[in-house]
Amino acid sequence: MSANEHRSEPLRLVIFGRQGAGKGTQCDRIVKQYGVVHLSTGDMFRAAIAAGSEIGSQVAPILAAGGLVSDDLTIALVRERLAHSDVQESGFVLDGFPRTTSQADALLGLLSESGASLDAVVNLEVALEEVTARMKSRGRNDDTDEGIAKRLALYDRETVPVIDWFDERGLVLRVDGIGAEHEVSDRLFAAIDGGVTH
Ligand code: AMP
Repeated sequence: MSANEHRSEPLRLVIFGRQGAGKGTQCDRIVKQYGVVHLSTGDMFRAAIAAGSEIGSQVAPILAAGGLVSDDLTIALVRERLAHSDVQESGFVLDGFPRTTSQADALLGLLSESGASLDAVVNLEVALEEVTARMKSRGRNDDTDEGIAKRLALYDRETVPVIDWFDERGLVLRVDGIGAEHEVSDRLFAAIDGGVTH
């Protein structure tokens, strides 16, 4: 039984976690547990590129260079996706968005326009040394020591201020991401169920 069946409102979440923190796996588990829609802006951009759309050709060079797509374009895409009936009915877990405080502010604005609110921001915490070790053990080609350090540093520079922004608004649930997948998801569900009041 989906936990959503006991709720008067669908669950609306944002998830943060460094690369190597197991965010993808935990998103899948959240989708199964709460019946929410997984919304990844990175996936949306990659789909637009694969479809050869106007937006796709605009963002392709930005993704290739590892930069950030403009707030305007990203927010417009999320606005459009949040209006779909599946998301309206089932709620969502946003992954990869927001990446700037302007996007975070826009997200809360978009939700309040439709009388909705964000239930929680989950921060999947895994220490830097641990994710570095996990990424190294995966041994992918782009996982050189330097590449790993660079991506993790970018995360700290870019994303940590956004988490702090949500923290100031009392929305952040910190979840220890160390342990077996099911242990982490049990912790996650307990945090969500305990931290979300409606
Ligand atoms: P991800 O799969 O989340 O790592 O996203 C892949 C790429 O898509 C990023 O490196 C950015 O170029 C772009 N992207 C994804 N989400 C956002 C966002 N919220 N704001 C700006 N650019 C984004």
